Amino acid sequence: MKFLVGQIPGGTAVFFVSGDSAINLTEQDSSLGPDLLGVMTSGKTLDELQDISTRGRSVPVASLKPALPIASPGMTICLGLNYVDHVKEGGYEIPKYPVFFMRTQRSLMPAGAPMMRPACSEQLDYEAELMVVIGKAGKHITPEEALNHVFGYTIFNDGSVRDFQRKSHQWTSGKNFDATGAIGPFVVSKDALPEGAAGLKIESRVGDEILQSATTSDMMWSVASTISAVSEFAALCPGDLIAMGTPPGVGHAKTPPRWLRDGETIEVEIEGIGICANPVVNEVKL
Ligand code: MG
Repeated sequence: MKFLVGQIPGGTAVFFVSGDSAINLTEQDSSLGPDLLGVMTSGKTLDELQDISTRGRSVPVASLKPALPIASPGMTICLGLNYVDHVKEGGYEIPKYPVFFMRTQRSLMPAGAPMMRPACSEQLDYEAELMVVIGKAGKHITPEEALNHVFGYTIFNDGSVRDFQRKSHQWTSGKNFDATGAIGPFVVSKDALPEGAAGLKIESRVGDEILQSATTSDMMWSVASTISAVSEFAALCPGDLIAMGTPPGVGHAKTPPRWLRDGETIEVEIEGIGICANPVVNEVKL
């Protein structure tokens, strides 16, 4: 099943997406709540959700304004350096343990919302990424059981401000500028994708200019091994998000560097999930 959390008057609602049409599930069953966390914790099976969707009135997907799939994730954890050729283009050593960093809530925005190009830097960069949506809680999860904890997958653009990322050994500032991490618009349940979302084409582009093009099979740490590694130190809960790192072709590794510019629209596409498109807009200093 494919879901989209969309804006409605006074809030948000969860929509079931089929082709170019969407049906408001929250309107049919208010116990599902305004975002996917409510759906996941409702105890409803996908079959039951499908059944609920048959009662609703369909609207064009294109008429919906996306919201964050999870309004307030308890944890948004990201992998850096998870594709060999991206590690090399950045001049890093191949890591022996996953490179984890966190993203704050205010650094995130939905597909379609402006990606803010900060006033203090020219170096806003894109990063196409697969994002895992956790659906079941757990700690000390083995790789073998890890995929049982996945609800589904979405798209992430890990917008990064490179000069700030490299000011110190901690990437926190460069990875947490306000409104630089785009999520969505669709979340696809895991049953509708290959196991571990492996083998999916992943691409980023501006217009006809293809910036990154790879497959999720190139990831060094799989979804299963990453969930296991995170859960060694942190309990995972429904609604937690894990960004799986980006393939080669980021702007700072191109000659000359290819920074995002005001007025462009950056798109990330993952096969079977959709396209996350965001306009790039200069920050206005107040
Ligand atoms: Mg990244």
